Amino acid sequence: MEQLYPNVLHPCWSNSRHHLWERIHLPVAGCCNTKCAFCDRNQASSCHTHSPGASRILMNPEEAVGRFLEEIEKRPNLRIAAVSGPGEPLANETTFSTLHRIKSARPDIHFCLSTNGILLSEQIPRLLKLNVETVSISISAINPRSAARIYEWAILDGNLLQGFEMGKRIIQKQLEGIERANRVGIRVKANTILIPPINRFEIGEIARNLARVGASLQNIVPLVPNANMKHIPPPSPAELTSARQTGSKYIKQFLHCHQCRSDVVGIPGQDTIL
Ligand code: SF4
Ligand code: SF4
Repeated sequence: MEQLYPNVLHPCWSNSRHHLWERIHLPVAGCCNTKCAFCDRNQASSCHTHSPGASRILMNPEEAVGRFLEEIEKRPNLRIAAVSGPGEPLANETTFSTLHRIKSARPDIHFCLSTNGILLSEQIPRLLKLNVETVSISISAINPRSAARIYEWAILDGNLLQGFEMGKRIIQKQLEGIERANRVGIRVKANTILIPPINRFEIGEIARNLARVGASLQNIVPLVPNANMKHIPPPSPAELTSARQTGSKYIKQFLHCHQCRSDVVGIPGQDTIL
């Protein structure tokens, strides 16, 4: 079965919903290095795709590893440990220490991380040491002007940036991170949030660039209106389908995202909250 990972067994990589392994999202990453306009930081958003109505919990690494070991006793099908929030996994040392401890206790477990991509390239050596095999990166713009509307601010190389320059640098970091991950054998799925007034007309260009830098899969999900984007209507089902069709001209699409929380265990859609 191992050779079928992640394409068939990972619940966020496989479009077939048979033979899926369970995954656990350990909510150990509290801080974030940017501020997305749709994120209010009080909710347990996973993979940065945003899921409303969830209360935020944060575990320290000891609590997270203890909980992981309890769950794995009860669930023989639990084979993937992931950190997807509630902040940015790669901006929190707690992410690395949690995975390090799990690796020592259970070297057979697969690791998956989600990221906004700002630190992906520079953290790749550490991901390789931990044997992280898959990452989900959020990339919802290819035009810096669009990125400047999605991200309110970001800390890049120690500087607080906003506006066009920030948007340009975030996109560069995201594409560089995917390219480097791909070069060293870490598989990348990209999450794209469809925000019709901002990125409806750049979905094809995002998908084309994802394929160019070596991403394997794209997951286009609808905006959940919230925080400073609560006034923006989400895309209609027809708009979402059309965006996925456009993306599929360049890169394989993942169609089963549940925009789940960062504190869950199970198979997306049938999760148990930790
Ligand atoms: Fe929220 Fe994720 Fe955006 Fe950070 S990158 S502001 S955690 S949605
Ligand atoms: Fe992340 Fe979507 Fe998979 Fe949930 S279903 S873990 S939000 S990619």
